[in-house]
Amino acid sequence: MSLLKESILKLLKNSRPGYLSGEEICRSLNVTRTAVWKHIQTLREEGYVIDARPRAGYRLTGIPDRLYPAEILEGLATRTLGREIDYYEKVGSTNEAARERAANGAAEGLLVVAEEQTGGKGRLGRQWYSPRSRGIIFTLLLYPPVNPSRVSQVTMLTAVALASAIRSETGVGAGIKWPNDLLVDGRKVCGILAELSAEVDRIGCLVVGIGINANQDFGDFPEDIRDKATSLKLETGATVSRVRLLQVSLESFEHWYGLWLEQGFEPVRAAWKQMSVTLDCPVRIHTLDQAWDGWAEDVDSDGALLLRLPDGSLQRFVSGEVSLRII
Ligand code: ATP
Repeated sequence: MSLLKESILKLLKNSRPGYLSGEEICRSLNVTRTAVWKHIQTLREEGYVIDARPRAGYRLTGIPDRLYPAEILEGLATRTLGREIDYYEKVGSTNEAARERAANGAAEGLLVVAEEQTGGKGRLGRQWYSPRSRGIIFTLLLYPPVNPSRVSQVTMLTAVALASAIRSETGVGAGIKWPNDLLVDGRKVCGILAELSAEVDRIGCLVVGIGINANQDFGDFPEDIRDKATSLKLETGATVSRVRLLQVSLESFEHWYGLWLEQGFEPVRAAWKQMSVTLDCPVRIHTLDQAWDGWAEDVDSDGALLLRLPDGSLQRFVSGEVSLRII
C-alpha cells in the first residue's frame, strides 16, 4: 500500500464513525484534492466502503475481509514477527515466495500472506487446498541459530502456538496430531509445513508455512477431503475475523519461539503433550515401505514419536516420511 493511501486510511479510521472533510485530509497530509480522491477510489477498489457526502467529506463504513498488511499491522503486538509483510492476492506457494525473499536477504520475521495459493503443499508433496479468502495462508521466515536436527521441534512449537491461538480466539479445542496437524474431533483444521534450507551444520533459513481453515463452508472442500477437514466457521457457526486470528497467531508464535530459543524444547514438549490428541492412543504408522501398529507412548527430546509395539519394544519415528492414523 502506498504511504499516502495508508495515511488517508488511518485518518479515516481515526475519525470513525464521523465524516472527515477532504480539505482536512489535504491539509494534514499536504496533498491536493485530486490526489485524495484518487486514493479514495483505490481504497474503494480494494473493498473499503467509503461514503462521500458534499460538505461533510468522507466516512469509512466498511473494511474488507482481506489480509491487507495495513489491517494486520494495526494493533499487532509483536516485536519482530510480521513487522514486514508481503501480501499476495494469489501466489503459487507462500513458502516458496518466502524462500525467494530469503535468498535476497530478507530479515527474520518476514510474513508472507496470500488470499489464494495455487500450488499449496503439505508434507510429502501432497496438496493443500484453500479457496480464495476463506482460509488463512501464511509463511514465516526464520533464521534460528540452532542445528538443523532441531527443525522438527519448530514444527511442534508451531503446532502449540497455533492450537493456543485458535483456542483463545475462537474457543475451539484444537488438538495436535503428531507431527504437524491440528484437528477438531478428528478433522483437520490447520496444517503446518516447516521447510529448511540448511548448510552442513547450520540452518540457512527456515520457512514455516501455515494453513488455517477459517471460514470454509462444507462445500468449499474438495469432495475427497470433506470427511477429514473442518473449518473454524463450521465448528463455531460464526465467521472468524481472519485478521484478528492471524494477529493472535503471530503473537502466540513469537511467544513460543522466544521460549524455545531461551529455554530449549522442554517447555514446548510439555505443552505439546498436553494438547496432543495422538498420545496415549493406539495408532498405525506408515513408513515408506511398512506399517506399524502400536501405542503412541511419548515424544522424545527431538520431537520423535515413541511407539510401544505389541512385543513390548519401543520404536522411534522421526516426522520426515511417515503418516500416522489413530486406530
Ligand atoms: P497424514 O495424515 O498421512 O499424516 P498429513 O496429515 O501430515 O498426512 P499433510 O501433508 O500435512 O498431511 O497435508 C496434506 C493433506 O491434507 C492432503 O493430502 C489432504 O488430504 C489434506 N488437506 C488438503 N487441504 C486441506 C485443507 N484445507 N483442510 C484439511 N485437510 C486438507
